[in-house]
Amino acid sequence: MNILAINPWIYDFAAYDFWLKPYGFLVMLNYLKSKGIHIDYIDCLDEKTIKATFGRGKYSNVIVEKPDVFKSIPRYFKRYGISLKDFETRLVGKKFDYILITSSMTYWYPGANLAVNILKKKFPSTKIILGGTYATLCNAHAKKTSGCDLVFSNENLEDFFKTLGVDFNYNKLYESLPAYEDFYAKLDYIVLRTSWGCPFDCNYCAIKKLFPGFFRLPEEKIVSFIKKYAEKGIKDFVLYDDAFFYEPDYAKNVLKKIDALQLNIGFHTPNALHLRFLDKELALLLKNTGFTNPHFGLETLDPSLQKLWGDKVNKHDLTEGLKLLRDAGFKNGEFSVYLLLGFPGQNLDDLRKDVEFLNSLGARVSLAEFSPVPGTTLFKEYPKEFDEPLLQNNSIFGFYKPAEAGKSMQDFWEIKNFVRELNKAFHKSPA
Ligand code: SF4
Repeated sequence: MNILAINPWIYDFAAYDFWLKPYGFLVMLNYLKSKGIHIDYIDCLDEKTIKATFGRGKYSNVIVEKPDVFKSIPRYFKRYGISLKDFETRLVGKKFDYILITSSMTYWYPGANLAVNILKKKFPSTKIILGGTYATLCNAHAKKTSGCDLVFSNENLEDFFKTLGVDFNYNKLYESLPAYEDFYAKLDYIVLRTSWGCPFDCNYCAIKKLFPGFFRLPEEKIVSFIKKYAEKGIKDFVLYDDAFFYEPDYAKNVLKKIDALQLNIGFHTPNALHLRFLDKELALLLKNTGFTNPHFGLETLDPSLQKLWGDKVNKHDLTEGLKLLRDAGFKNGEFSVYLLLGFPGQNLDDLRKDVEFLNSLGARVSLAEFSPVPGTTLFKEYPKEFDEPLLQNNSIFGFYKPAEAGKSMQDFWEIKNFVRELNKAFHKSPA
């Protein structure tokens, strides 16, 4: 069987390769390959114009017409990724039994739709199947607008494999790690998961819809995967885990084995680590195994919101955890803590106090821009208009009404500048 697999373009006001790889899709393709299926893979985002630190960089992009809902926003709207000509050239002379398209952010769906339009014309009799985050969280919308023959959500994975006529073995699938060299000619970094899902349940997060439960990969598999790519010269490893420290003994065992191998690599944690599980040993292991600017989840210091959002970390966990990091050798400004910006009714004065407090503890602040995510408890409180995925984009903040908290949009942008300046100051005077 021949399959064409596509990671589509991004349509947005801004996009940057902050270690973005369609990880779940690559794992699934790896599994299909192991069943003898031939895969042609096109990652429409595999082209950068500027390379930055740790393998990150700027995507190639072109300005495109804004969708009607964005007409009043005075910013360019762009398509990020390879050119349409390049895309079409890669299809010449090919024939496929199925075409698989993945999707990530719900509001990037025009990229998937563009791929479908092109592919329908080129391969009118080939079935096109859409999966991924957008297909899962906005299933009805995707069925209505994508033009795909089948749109499946993550919970219907078994049906997807049935359609292809391929055995579905849950453990084998989720224990797979991608063979990147089969899909990419060149790699700037490696993304991996030691686990799927998250044991917590924050009311703004859709993880339970995307992966119910919590599944761990065997430690040895992870260690040999990292060793393999380190030996190929990869320096940057990005942990996509949502709860790497949950069951700290697992994290410690993996990191001890990595430490013993002396691989001279770095780790990045854009999805955040849990301070509550940090102890002296784990903090030292982070330092010794090359965790660079490790990111930790906090979201807010308001105890009532912490309760509502999943009660992951309190002020005590925060101060103790950051002290352990400093004791382990991380200097001020060498670790970051996430705070949420832009959730409904947010008090910006309180946010500013949280920022100042974190800064006083030596932490850089990463403002995670809130967006309403379908399938979450909090999403139910939003007006119907946010069913349109384009409006779920966190760069437009259409869902944040500062006036409700006696503030203006100006105050909102000022907080962002304030954080930027505080973070920059760590460079000037590292402690
Ligand atoms: S801890 Fe993170 S991944 Fe887990 S539910 Fe909360 S926000 Fe989602």
